[in-house]
Order: sequence, then C-alpha cells, then structure tokens
Amino acid sequence: MAMRQKLVAGNWKMHGNLVDNQALLLSLRTQLVGLRNVSCAVFPPAPYIPQAQHELTGSAIAWGAQNVSKHAKGAFTGEVAASMLLDFGCKYVLLGHSERRAIFGETDEMAAAKFMAALTSGLTPVLCVGETLDERESGCAESVIARQIDAIIEVAGVSALAKAVVAYEPVWAIGTGKTASPEQAQAIHAFIRQKIAGLDAGIAQGLMILYGGSVKAANAAELFSQPDIDGGLIGGASLVADEFIAICKAA
Ligand code: PGA
Repeated sequence: MAMRQKLVAGNWKMHGNLVDNQALLLSLRTQLVGLRNVSCAVFPPAPYIPQAQHELTGSAIAWGAQNVSKHAKGAFTGEVAASMLLDFGCKYVLLGHSERRAIFGETDEMAAAKFMAALTSGLTPVLCVGETLDERESGCAESVIARQIDAIIEVAGVSALAKAVVAYEPVWAIGTGKTASPEQAQAIHAFIRQKIAGLDAGIAQGLMILYGGSVKAANAAELFSQPDIDGGLIGGASLVADEFIAICKAA
C-alpha cells in the first residue's frame, strides 16, 4: 500500500465570529504541532480568511475557502476570484459541496468550471462528491459519484486530479450524526480510486480521498485506518478545538 499523506480539513460552513475564531485558531496553532504524515487545514467563511492567515502563518496548518468564482474578474457582484483567495494565502478551495449543490443549485458543470478556475490559478481544489439517501437506497450511489467525477475529468482531464483532492461525503451522513460505516466508506473510496486507475494508475495511487459526514473524535481513527481513506473533511466537529485536534491526531 502506498503511503499517501493524510489531510484533515475543517469546513466551518457559515459559523464563527472574530472572538470565537480567535480562540479556536489559537488552540489549533498551539496544539497541532509535530504531526507526522498528516496535514491540517481550516476553511473559514470568506470574511475570516485574513484572520486565519494572520493567526496561522508560520504554523503547520493551512487554510482555504469554501467557494470560488469560475470567473477571473469583472462585473460579478458577490463573487470572489481565485486570485483574491491566493492573495490571502489560501492553499485549498472546496468545490461541489452537497450544500452548494442542493441549496444553491450548483451543477456538475459549475463545479467543473470552478475546478478549472482554482487549478489554473494555483489553488488545490477539494472536490466533494456523494450520493443522497434516495440514490443510495435505489442502488445508484456509484453511478452518481462517477457522474460527478466524470464532469471534472471531461473538462480538466484526468491529469488535473494529480493536483486535487477528492472528498467523499454521503449526503445522508452530513450533519446528521449518521456516519457511513468504515466498510461503506471504504467501498466507495475504493470505487473512486479504481475508477480513476482505469484512466491513470499513478494518479489514482497518489490521489488523496477524504471521507466527510459526521466524523468526530470517537469514529475518526477507525475510518482513517481504511486503506483508501486518506483523512477527513470535518464539519460540525471542526468548530470544537478539542474534537478537531483529536481527529487530526487520529489521522
Ligand atoms: P459534518 O459535515 O461533519 O458536520 O457532517 C461535513 C461536511 O459537510 O463537510
């Protein structure tokens, strides 16, 4: 088994304020030191990215954005360009999160356009994929995930995945407290890796595939011990310093 680096990423979603963030970032900065083979990152709401940059510069923790425009610049009220995120030291950007897809109508095509915008400017895209409960129960989980990945490969080519991270997040497990079992998650991670290996074995082998959906300190180690699970994308538990730190240490 190849030794891929692990990544634990905290998706803060639309939570936080200056005071709470300060305390959280300080705890992470002081306690997430000396971890081997695991990278840690936080994804605050956009206005707090400079705060993350200020608090985390010089630490082992990276930061990223939860969204990015597909456009480089121009008359696009409310949008944030990849170059602007880079100006504030972002390393990563989340794309295709199920909340963006379900609540804001983001399509596979939009995710692919944003993926390209991120990649061409030097941000590492973290592409989120995952099926709903209905899709799982009707036996389409793999075909949904294949479609979500194919949309990216069609536009960016498989080689682009060498500079990206994939996060498998079953929609039914997000924010529900209902985690996929390690076996369920491993099965989909292996499916994703095999699918990509069909196009390029080397890229598949090196690709970090994170699991997301109700990961907490109590279940992280078992999930992360699966051969194709390379860390996690953590929502609710990433807002609690002790939980997030324990999850990073479990990776
Ligand atoms: P959760 O969210 O950990 O709160 O389930 C994960 C995510 O949406 O990235």
